[in-house]
Amino acid sequence: LHNMVQDLKGNIRVYCRIRPSFNAESKNAIDFIGNDGSLVIIDPSKTQKDGKKVFQFNRVFSPTATQDEVFKDTQPLIRSVMDGYNVCIFAYGQTGSGKTHTMSGPSGRSTKDLGINYLALNDLFQMCNRRKDIIDYEIYVQMVEIYNEQIRSCSENGFTLPDATLRSVKSTTHVLNLMKLGEVNRVVSSTASNNQSSRSHSVLTVHVHGKDMSGSTIRSCLHLVDLAGSERVDKSEVTGERLKEAQYINKSLSCLGDVITALAQKNSHIPYRNSKLTLLLQDSLGGHAKTLMFAHISPEEESFCETFSTLKFAQRVSTV
Ligand code: ADP
Ligand code: MG
Repeated sequence: LHNMVQDLKGNIRVYCRIRPSFNAESKNAIDFIGNDGSLVIIDPSKTQKDGKKVFQFNRVFSPTATQDEVFKDTQPLIRSVMDGYNVCIFAYGQTGSGKTHTMSGPSGRSTKDLGINYLALNDLFQMCNRRKDIIDYEIYVQMVEIYNEQIRSCSENGFTLPDATLRSVKSTTHVLNLMKLGEVNRVVSSTASNNQSSRSHSVLTVHVHGKDMSGSTIRSCLHLVDLAGSERVDKSEVTGERLKEAQYINKSLSCLGDVITALAQKNSHIPYRNSKLTLLLQDSLGGHAKTLMFAHISPEEESFCETFSTLKFAQRVSTV
């Protein structure tokens, strides 16, 4: 099997993406965006000099970055799946910071500005086609949602308990339809519990099976993960279901951080078993697998605290 080993500059990469500001009245907390991956934000409660917080990532996408620019940077990683690597791409950040925009694109029926999920599948199909004389590929997709540490997979009749339905897909249109189905299901549950979609992790897994003339095979997968909103809730303000959701999210996001940090530090023990998400992704985190995290931030001054906490999390899991 011909294996094009990509120079992927390490197994863990962290990108930051800043969404455009929607509030013209609001001041900006972003001080500087370097084209070398550096980023400076300013704490509005401090002076210009004392409030500067400096971060370093593999890359920072400014608010004007397009979906295509973001995809172009991700493409080599996505293509490595065709060569047998397992890849996880995470969208992390507070609710409203642009996670779903990066992964799926704008909500609704729009087919403009499609996100990584669609662009990745499209690219994988094109690669299949280009290599069809050498390798016979099959592509399967699976959509799973994790809500309150419970895994639900998406099927025609809404969310069911894990039946691990693998759907063989032949075209991007087919995938678009499947994803719409997933979105519809998410919307249904979101009316049941106040905006549940931002309270759950959504995992789209693309399984690639390849076989060449000599009969040797490749099996790999790409996990595209739109994480639950990372915002901290005020324990004095929420109770009951909302508090429970928040506690589950905090726990699973910090478990994810622990796993990636342990991998980045090459620890001998990796705590996969501490959350459903890391358990689900276990085979694709660590080893030869590649991980990319997009840390999403909102530019407005009002979001400074959440932005700071997102960037601290992202810096912790980064090997830069
Ligand atoms: P999240 O999934 O993190 O809660 P969304 O992706 O839903 O956030 O983004 C919140 C809003 O901002 C949406 O209306 C989305 O379309 C818009 N948005 C986010 N990022 C961008 C961007 N880079 N360019 C234009 N609009 C964006
Ligand atoms: Mg979202």
